Amino acid sequence: MKLDNIDIFNRGGQPVIVAGPCSAESEEQVMQVATELSKRGVNIFRAGIWKPRTRPGCFEGVGKMGLPWLSKVKSELGMCVTTEVATAEHVELALAAGIDILWVGARTTANPFAVQEIADALRGCDVPVLVKNPVNPDIELWIGAMERLNNAGITRLGAIHRGFSSYGEKCFRNAPQWQLPIELRRRFPGLPLLCDPSHIAGKRELILSLSQQAMDLNFDGLMVETHCNPYCALSDARQQVTPDELMAILGKLVHRVAVADNADFQSYREHIDEIDRELMRLLSKRMEIAREIGELKREKGMMVFQPLRYNEIMERYVKFCADGKIEVDAVREIFELIHSESIRQQLSVMNSNEV
Ligand code: PEP
Ligand code: MN
Repeated sequence: MKLDNIDIFNRGGQPVIVAGPCSAESEEQVMQVATELSKRGVNIFRAGIWKPRTRPGCFEGVGKMGLPWLSKVKSELGMCVTTEVATAEHVELALAAGIDILWVGARTTANPFAVQEIADALRGCDVPVLVKNPVNPDIELWIGAMERLNNAGITRLGAIHRGFSSYGEKCFRNAPQWQLPIELRRRFPGLPLLCDPSHIAGKRELILSLSQQAMDLNFDGLMVETHCNPYCALSDARQQVTPDELMAILGKLVHRVAVADNADFQSYREHIDEIDRELMRLLSKRMEIAREIGELKREKGMMVFQPLRYNEIMERYVKFCADGKIEVDAVREIFELIHSESIRQQLSVMNSNEV
């Protein structure tokens, strides 16, 4: 992707802060929260006017009626304004109203037809666009959305990590799955990456710790839903914070340096490298044996997958780690990966000359 800088994001190493309500509700509400934020030094204002709600019947945003309110925030307070667009019509209306930055929401990123429609509507413009991760943890879909925009000539792109949906009881509204934004950063080091702790958390109490984690992972900034009267917000009331609470959160963030003196880490890293080499040596030894077992299974006409044995080993692994030095879920994931590679190897041994 060909990327250019988003000027307003250059803050001399300070995190970029985008704040404002989940939804623009009225001109007064928009002006009130924007004024409070501006007084506290926030210069990028967010507010959704077209709200993609999961179920019908919820507040779906004020629509284009909210655009002049955002223009007023821009002209009266000098803030940079951003809103979500999901269709070509939204893009046209937002650009005509002078919105400075557009963002693509998580539900839209998951839909290549919708993203392409937005990209086509943007052809020939150079407005910055921030792309939220899709609702499902598919990094290719996230990158694909940015590529569609980039192919249409949008070079001032940024990504927003807002977590991923999952089923069932959970601590977060959207699981952070930090490995996805980490991988995105690895692949596109020059792409600005913001974290939206509000939609990950779903509740305001978790916003500080998520923001700190994002800072520790070298994110460029935060998008935080902020409302002067969060309890009465028409959408996402549980996760919005007041401007003062936002400032308290920002004030508590510990900023760490990206690179320290390497010499301090040298001997630890050498040790880690040695352990990694040993792990890889043992894993390939394990795979060799798995292939030999595969030969034996073929001779005996046995099936590859042996659920009883699988469960037995899994339980043993979990017990090994009962001291809590590795989280049980991580142990399960590591073992699942090792086991699935063994299975793949055995399948290839067993089916190697049978076609
Ligand atoms: C929002 O930012 O208010 C929003 C709808 O977010 P998401 O697309 O992440 O759900
Ligand atoms: Mn919201």
